[in-house]
Amino acid sequence: MGRLAILALLLAAIVPPATAFARPAESYAVIYKSVTGTTANQLIASLNKHRTQGSWAFTYWKVTRVGCRTTLTIRQTLPAWQDSGRAPAVLRRKWNGFHAALLAHEARHLQFARSAAAEIDAMGCSADPVRVLRKWIATERAFDRRTQHGIKTGATLRYE
Ligand SMILES: [Zn+2]
Repeated sequence: MGRLAILALLLAAIVPPATAFARPAESYAVIYKSVTGTTANQLIASLNKHRTQGSWAFTYWKVTRVGCRTTLTIRQTLPAWQDSGRAPAVLRRKWNGFHAALLAHEARHLQFARSAAAEIDAMGCSADPVRVLRKWIATERAFDRRTQHGIKTGATLRYE
């Protein structure tokens, strides 16, 4: 075996297989909470009654690492309005605007979670992920402060 062949073998041993760059495993689920009402005030009262972690919607996530395997677990809790068929058109329009803004807000939380998991996954097996987790949690908190948990971007309903 010549030197070139040995070098090629060494490189093959050093360069990880493509699967090492695969995305982290992900467990994603949405939990819908029923909310009711045919007026804005009733709907707000129902949303307040069915809060998760103090919010009308919530994106919970955690990154776990077992050996070299990174797993991202996401549980999104979202409101599902039961009375839209019986409600006046003006309230349906208000809900649609609110709901779209709410989904967009929670989608950003989802992005933060996936970014954190991808960064941790790319760190290598022995690296400590705590610093990366702290960074992404701080990024999320800053995002919630900036948007007032989505209120500034339309994820809210007003009393009539
Ligand atoms: Zn938020």
